[in-house]
Amino acid sequence: MIDYHVHTRLCNHAEGIMQDYILKAIEIGLEEICFLDHLTLQDQGKGLSMTPGEVPFYFQAVQMLKKKYAVQIDVKAGLEIDFSEAHVDMAADIAGTYAFDVIGSSVHFPDGVDIVRRRSAWRNEDNYKDIDIDRVYGQYYETLARMLDYSYFDIICHFDLVKKFGRKPSRSFDEKIIEILKKVKQKNLTIELNTSGYHHAAEESYPAPDIIKKCKDFGISFALGSDAHNPQSVGRYFDKAFQLLQEAGYKEIAVFNKRKKSVISIDYSKAVR
Ligand SMILES: [Zn+2]
Ligand SMILES: [Zn+2]
Repeated sequence: MIDYHVHTRLCNHAEGIMQDYILKAIEIGLEEICFLDHLTLQDQGKGLSMTPGEVPFYFQAVQMLKKKYAVQIDVKAGLEIDFSEAHVDMAADIAGTYAFDVIGSSVHFPDGVDIVRRRSAWRNEDNYKDIDIDRVYGQYYETLARMLDYSYFDIICHFDLVKKFGRKPSRSFDEKIIEILKKVKQKNLTIELNTSGYHHAAEESYPAPDIIKKCKDFGISFALGSDAHNPQSVGRYFDKAFQLLQEAGYKEIAVFNKRKKSVISIDYSKAVR
C-alpha cells in the first residue's frame, strides 16, 4: 500500500529524519511513500514550512533517498502547497520547476483564520463562544471552491480540515460540498483520504465518511495519506481508511508519477496496521 502524505523537519513542526519515515514505511510493508512537505508561501518567516530557497535541497534529498531505497520501496517527492490567491503564480512556478511526482493543495487559513495550529483561537475553548462557527465553515468551503479555479495541483489535502478541533456547524454545508465535488470531477482531480483526523478532536477521517460516499457517486479518485509529522505515524489508522474505502465501494487508489495519475487496485486482505 501507499502513504502519500508525510512531512519532514524542513517544515519546522515535524520530527525525525527523512530516512526514518522511509524505514517505518518499509517496516509496515508499504510499497510507496511520498514526501508531501509544506510550502506555505504567504506565511514565510513564521516557521510553518520550508522556504522557496529550500525547495531544491528538499527535492534532491528525496531523490537521493529514492535511489538508496529503490529495491525496498518507491520513494516519491511532492509538496503540500498552502492555497493563497496572491501566491498562485509562484506556487505554479515552483511546482513546475522540479520533477515532482505530485502536488497537493490545502487550505489552512481561510480568510486569515488559522484553523490548524495549536495556539489558534479556533481551537481555544475560551474563545469558543466568540467565534461564529458557521461563518468559519462558510469561509473555509468558499476558499476551497476558489482554490479549484486554479490548476497548479493534483490532490486536495484533508478536504474538510475545518472540523479539526471538533467545532461543529449548526447547519449543513452539503450543497457547497456537492458544488465543490462537481468541480473536482470536472478537473479530474484526486481527493486525499487523510487519516490524521482520528488523532484530532474531529475523531474521524478527512473527508468524513459521508463525503467519501459522495465522492464515489461522482467517480472521484482517492489517494491515501497519514499526514505523519513523525516517523512512527507513517501509515497510522490505515485500517480505518481501508474500511471506509471498502464500505464506499472503492476498488482502486490513485498513485502519481511525475504528475501523471494512474490507479492501483486495493488488496483488502492485506490490511496495514
Ligand atoms: Zn504540518
Ligand atoms: Zn495540511
